[in-house]
Amino acid sequence: MMQEGQKPRQQQEKKRSVKDWNKRDRRRPGSAAGAAASPASAEEIKVGARIVVTIKRIGINGEGVGYFKRKAVFIDGALPNEVIKARVSKVEKGFLTAEIVEIEKRSPHRQQPQCPVYAVCGGCQLQHITYEGQLEAKEELVREAFRRYTGLEELPLRPIIGMAEPWGYRNKAQLQAGREGGKIVTGLYAAGSHSLIDISGCTVQHPVINRVISEVKTILAELDIPIYNERARTGVVRTVVARISEASGQVQLTLITAADKLPDSRRFVQRVREALPMVVTIAQNIHKGQSSLIFGDKTIVLWGKERLEETLGNIRFALSPRAFFQLNPQQTVKLYGVVEEAAALSGSELVVDAYCGTGTIGLWLAPHAREVRGIELIGEAVRDARENARISGIDNASFYEGRAEQLLPEWVGRGIKPDVVVVDPPRTGCEQPLLQAIVRAKPRRLVYVSCNPSTLAKDCTTLLHGGYHIEWVQPVDMFPQTGHVEAIVLLRRQ
Ligand code: SAH
Repeated sequence: MMQEGQKPRQQQEKKRSVKDWNKRDRRRPGSAAGAAASPASAEEIKVGARIVVTIKRIGINGEGVGYFKRKAVFIDGALPNEVIKARVSKVEKGFLTAEIVEIEKRSPHRQQPQCPVYAVCGGCQLQHITYEGQLEAKEELVREAFRRYTGLEELPLRPIIGMAEPWGYRNKAQLQAGREGGKIVTGLYAAGSHSLIDISGCTVQHPVINRVISEVKTILAELDIPIYNERARTGVVRTVVARISEASGQVQLTLITAADKLPDSRRFVQRVREALPMVVTIAQNIHKGQSSLIFGDKTIVLWGKERLEETLGNIRFALSPRAFFQLNPQQTVKLYGVVEEAAALSGSELVVDAYCGTGTIGLWLAPHAREVRGIELIGEAVRDARENARISGIDNASFYEGRAEQLLPEWVGRGIKPDVVVVDPPRTGCEQPLLQAIVRAKPRRLVYVSCNPSTLAKDCTTLLHGGYHIEWVQPVDMFPQTGHVEAIVLLRRQ
């Protein structure tokens, strides 16, 4: 934690260093740096100009955000409270982008990233910040979004719920297969390039998943199974997907192929079973097209169980290879615990779970409610939700396929009035008709689960005007080392 007394000192330091740096620039008129120094208005800053910026906070993509002559400056790799000498790399109407030239004042939260491919992979954005610093930055992102969109200065923000061990938490890897210099690699394409970065030793991935991926790579090489080549459109194996059940330690392995037939599939199954006893399913999914979707429509189980069994709290799940599931089960349990606290159910309530996915939140709440109704856009997820209810022995939850912004207003029109509404929308937030229907239906409690603080704060503004007030905001760190921020807001009627 930063100590209170540090702040004013840092602000003074910032002023002093900006002045010094700019003074120096002024003595070198005509230089690129001079362009930054002489004009008073930020509009005249040119690419290449040298500026000094004190970083105020972390932005949504993990970049440092500061100001230069009232213009926002985004600097990759810069940390809050650091003073950065930077070179302007892009000048836009409302903001500047700059690169670090020198860190004049370092943050105590700066650290060496653990992952060797951190800089090129792009999967994590915050490994250069200590975990404590990451948690502070995420709280600040939530606070800043509410300050900007709701104008609320006094936000009842609870301390973020982090992980005791913020590594090795991801239960699923979905890696592209390819060849680099004759060797099989599994990883992700580096941003804007065709080079595949091998990330089979990923530090946020469950260690068993890393082991499975690396062993599968060896077996593919031994059996000489052809790997798909994106450019030539030859070969077979496109993607390797491995998912572990937190509850049982069992693993579901899926090879996504560009052809109907996986060559040598019998020996592949045999070798995987010998080498990796935790694998309970070996499946093949066929994706022949050129679309950017990972999975194709057809899945064949080559060996083992149809579905992977997983448990969260008292809820059971049976996951087919394509089924969506939360990526960090440990934190998901904490998240749903917070939702349960916010819903404060006594057993007599009608709960609507809008954007319910495979029904997880609704099923978690069902034992404490009279009735749960889930709404979900994707038919396959709705069927999974019903199946999850069945195997968990829950008979007071029903799931409806459709748009939340259509179904809820319809229900309200027919006199179906929920006592508690839970929404968990995608990054774009809730549609206005849904928010209006909620305001009309007047549920006592509204629990908003969000993965995007900006749309969360915007939607809360509508709800504040509609007669709700914010009881508390609880951020939860679902994805340590990345810039993602999840938050739950409890809204109650005035
Ligand atoms: N609550 C779930 C998943 C939330 S993800 C869980 O905790 O696991 C958001 C879900 O909203 C996705 O499943 C997506 O398919 C669905 N969705 C997106 N737009 C929607 C809409 N307009 N109406 C209903 N569901 C929608």
